[in-house]
Order: sequence, then C-alpha cells, then structure tokens
Amino acid sequence: MIQDIGEHIYDNHFEPHDPTPRSYVLCYRDATVLCRIDGETIDLPCLRDFATAPDLQYLFSIDGMDFFTPLAGTSEEPEGFSYQTLNWLRFAEPQYLLFAAVTGWQLFRWYESNRYCGRCGHPTQIVPTSREVCCPACNAVIYPKIAPGVIVGVVDPATERIVLTKYAGREHAHFALVAGFTEIGESIEQTVAREVMEEVGLHVKNLVFYKSQPWSYSDTLLVGFFCEVDGDTAITVDRSELKEAAWLTRDEMPTRAEDKVSLTGEMMRLFRAIGNDVLKS
Ligand SMILES: [Zn+2]
Repeated sequence: MIQDIGEHIYDNHFEPHDPTPRSYVLCYRDATVLCRIDGETIDLPCLRDFATAPDLQYLFSIDGMDFFTPLAGTSEEPEGFSYQTLNWLRFAEPQYLLFAAVTGWQLFRWYESNRYCGRCGHPTQIVPTSREVCCPACNAVIYPKIAPGVIVGVVDPATERIVLTKYAGREHAHFALVAGFTEIGESIEQTVAREVMEEVGLHVKNLVFYKSQPWSYSDTLLVGFFCEVDGDTAITVDRSELKEAAWLTRDEMPTRAEDKVSLTGEMMRLFRAIGNDVLKS
C-alpha cells in the first residue's frame, strides 16, 4: 500500500528545521507536483536545484531527509522538472518519494485552505513550533483534519463470492469494494453497515478488521473490513452513486495487479488468493 515504504522511516514529528541545499522541495499546482520522470521513476527537486530559494514551510522527514513546501508557490521550474498529476504518479517508483509527494500535498492543501480563520475571517498565522494554524483575532486553533472512511469486502461464505461495485460518473471506473466516509455522530462499525445498505442493499454481520491506510488524495484514513452478508443476498444497486454491483467469485474478479498502493486493491487480491479465509480474524 502507499504507506508501505519498506525500510524507509516516515517521521511526522513536527520539529522546526531550517532547510539545507539537500532538503526536498514539494511544489504543487492544483493536483500536480513538480518532479522529474525517467520511465516510471520519479525524483523530486531539492533546494539546490532552485536558482532562487523560495520561502519554505517544513512538513516531515523520511530517513532524516527533510521535506518542505513553498506555501506561496514558486514560478521557477528547475531544468528537467515539470508538473505531473499525482494520480498518474500512483504507478511511479520509488514508493517513498510517491508517498512523500502525496502526503505533502495533503499538508499543503491544509495550509492553503486555512489562510483565513473559518470562525471570524481574520488572516491566520502558522504556529512555528507545531503543526497548527491559529487566529490572532479570536484565538481559534486549527489542526489538520482527517476524514475517516471504510473499505468493505462483503462476502457470501456459502458461495465464496464477494460484492464488487463500479461508480457512476467516472470515465475509467474499475471494480472496487464498497466504500464511503464516516458521518458525524457515527461509529466506524455503523459506517460499514450504512454504506453497504446504501450502496448495495445488503445487511452484514461478523465484521473483521483487516488494515487501515492513510489516503491523502482525499484527506482520508481508510479502515478496511471484511464481513459476511446477513440474510438475503439479492443486491439492490444505488443508481445515484453506483453504476454496477455484483457478486463475483475468486476466478471472476479482476486482479488489480497494477495497483500496488490502495487498500482496496490489496483486499481484492487477498480475497482472490484465499477466499472465505479473509473472514478469519
Ligand atoms: Zn478568528
């Protein structure tokens, strides 16, 4: 998955650093990041690649290498670097730089979205010693927000099949598992039951937690569960949200072999590999 960066160690402890010439500089425009591509390998610019040093905000480090971002942006594109969509980069190597680019994008968007106080409208200030933004007028303190969501593998043990869905309104929709965001006032278990009922009209039981995953593309922490269908197995598709939903056997389901970064892909491959055993906790 995207956060599985092997022996590399992600350190999000906020400790103010001064950038060095070797510090990485994560520059974003819309959903793109400044990078250099060689085949399927990416590299990110360091401060020494820039003729004029931009004003930088510290983000995090990986293996002691610091990552910064110019919150005000920079018009400079060092030679060999260009802006590439973060979605395409899901297939790029090395994965720790992809993870850094996507995680930094979430932080960049958080700083960018909180330049003004949501309570009183006054310009905010970045707290230099912690990952906080504060309002000098009304003393509001703003922390990064993470939206929990679920990925659900609904299994019918009697026939060893799993429910796969396709979203409506997306040009290149792939088969995926049931998924959705947690609503205010709801537990994560209730999210599972509600999303499965809303998307495919099934009752579920015997939830088994699988793994969780940060998914910075949508400011999300995804929590993956497998569960059993409870009672009637007839699917009722929510046509407003989904285009298609079906029970598929291990042999019928797609492999998503190219998808190394998503929890959904890993859970689908696991069911394909071991079937009903996904329900063993
Ligand atoms: Zn305020």
